[in-house]
Amino acid sequence: MTQHDPERDLTVRFVHRMRPTLPRSLPRVTAGACVASRKLPLGRLALGSLALVALLTLPGCGPDAGSADLILTNAQVYTLDWGEPDREGHPAPDAPFDSASGWRPDAEAVAMKDGLIVFVGDSQGAEAFRGRRTRVMDLEGATVIPGLIESHAHVVELGALASRINLMGVGSEEEAVRFAEARAAETPPGTWILGAGWDEGAWADRLPTMDLLSEGVPDHPVYLRGLYGFGGWGNRMAFEKAGISASTPDPPGGRIERDAQGNPTGVVLDRAMLLLEEAVPEPSVEETMEHVLAGLRIMAEYGYTAVHEAGTGPRSMAAFQKLEAQGRLPLRVYAMLSAREPELCQEWLLKGPDSGTDSMLRTRSVKAFYDASLGSRGARLLEDYSDLPGHRGVAGADYSFDEDLVARMIRAGFQAEIHAIGDAGNRETLDFFERVLRENPQARDLRHKIVHAQVVHPNDFQRFAELGVAASVQPPHAVEDMRWAEDRLGPQRIRGAYAWRTFRRNGVPILLNSDLPGSHWDFFYGFHAAVTRRDRDLQPPGGWRPEEALTPEEAVRGYTLWGAWAEFMDGLTGVLHPGFRADITVLSLDPFTLASTDPDQLLGGRILATIVGGEVVYERGR
Ligand SMILES: [Zn+2]
Repeated sequence: MTQHDPERDLTVRFVHRMRPTLPRSLPRVTAGACVASRKLPLGRLALGSLALVALLTLPGCGPDAGSADLILTNAQVYTLDWGEPDREGHPAPDAPFDSASGWRPDAEAVAMKDGLIVFVGDSQGAEAFRGRRTRVMDLEGATVIPGLIESHAHVVELGALASRINLMGVGSEEEAVRFAEARAAETPPGTWILGAGWDEGAWADRLPTMDLLSEGVPDHPVYLRGLYGFGGWGNRMAFEKAGISASTPDPPGGRIERDAQGNPTGVVLDRAMLLLEEAVPEPSVEETMEHVLAGLRIMAEYGYTAVHEAGTGPRSMAAFQKLEAQGRLPLRVYAMLSAREPELCQEWLLKGPDSGTDSMLRTRSVKAFYDASLGSRGARLLEDYSDLPGHRGVAGADYSFDEDLVARMIRAGFQAEIHAIGDAGNRETLDFFERVLRENPQARDLRHKIVHAQVVHPNDFQRFAELGVAASVQPPHAVEDMRWAEDRLGPQRIRGAYAWRTFRRNGVPILLNSDLPGSHWDFFYGFHAAVTRRDRDLQPPGGWRPEEALTPEEAVRGYTLWGAWAEFMDGLTGVLHPGFRADITVLSLDPFTLASTDPDQLLGGRILATIVGGEVVYERGR
């Protein structure tokens, strides 16, 4: 029985389209690795035979020692083993690209052994690495790229979401309440009911209240966190348990929504969320370990080989460390310590950054918040919000930015990633970096980042480059915020918003990621947004401010090699090259060519396999 399978059709088409290309950049000999060839202009046959010669002649690389654990063959491999594109995105002269026919893969096969890549080249050349125990995956024309790196994520939260009510995509207050009622029906009275994902950005003008929620769920405390973590919604019992009443003052950097009499109406914003959250019992370390594993499993299914956890607290750190000690982390985890956890930071200040590269868990970064979000009008702007005169958002010490702690971490050798969204938030964060780096020039090389870097004054782009500060940006945010971002900013300021090309043009390193679970982490969704500036419905047809789009190569690099750079793993991951870690993602379609030939199809892409250190951690059933 034959069933129509669009992916299959795609695969077949790509096999036919594939040109007989040679490896552009043949592997360099890397000390300690059994590699196949030098950078020589060899043909297919010559490459194969050279591989054999290498096997027989290199010390420690006899036929048994040389046989690979895993070979990917018959693939369209993009190694990224060529020069960086220029600031306008034009590919380097040695890239497998020409302006007449576009991109072509630069290899067909990858062989790996003991966690490292040992060969990259054509399928025939890879045969030399086939031994009795070698697993060979015939990829039938699928695309292979370096492993995807999610460089700003909240994976623990993603895993925890699995155990909560998921309100992502819920369109109304009534619908959210129905979810809470259904969960309450199967939960013992008095137990907290937790949920997350209602959109405090989209609902900002008509926030929900506790009335309907308390009517529907009278006997359980309910706490529903907003999608972006800037709003929290509770029922009456939750507010009672948290002790929030008319006499509770708004905390610095936060607001309790109130009625005319000053009574809380059910939503707490920004820092006021803590008032409700602190009343919710904490999960144990063991529960958190389960959340980590659940989150990483999802990430593996979506092709990611490494995850940068943005803001690790003591409990999630303990969970990561336990899982690492037990050898149970399936993906590489780069944990950024939360600057809102001074004791944890203090502990690491004494220990110093972990600059090793062998462990699956690596900790050498601190994550801080400078301002809040644009949707909730918490992002700090230089001038008033266009849709809320007199209001400029919240930032700095008023938003619990602990300048002294972050500066001490930087001086101790930690990388800093600072959340800044508004143009004032970004400027003041750059000012902070400038002060600290002036006094500590050695800390300039720590690859500091501003995450989101969403609204930037025209004068400030160049300052990122001067300070060596990268912009960590989220392609999904641009296409999700475009409906209301200009309301907040007006027609002038919007030009410096979500301005990825402007960053590149100014020589600013950029990273692409999703900030999951707030936005979806599907690579094809983010990639499509990065290269087309269109949303899932392919709107607007020409892209929203398309002059800020990235090229397909920049977008792939943003999700792979540039992420590796951000975690100091460049030279080890991010490129498919002998001697590098075998971190690899297999895609059902070719993002390089489709971006120009048929970008609408990108959203239908699927992950076929995820390989971390030579281990297949996810494989799609065919
Ligand atoms: Zn985040």
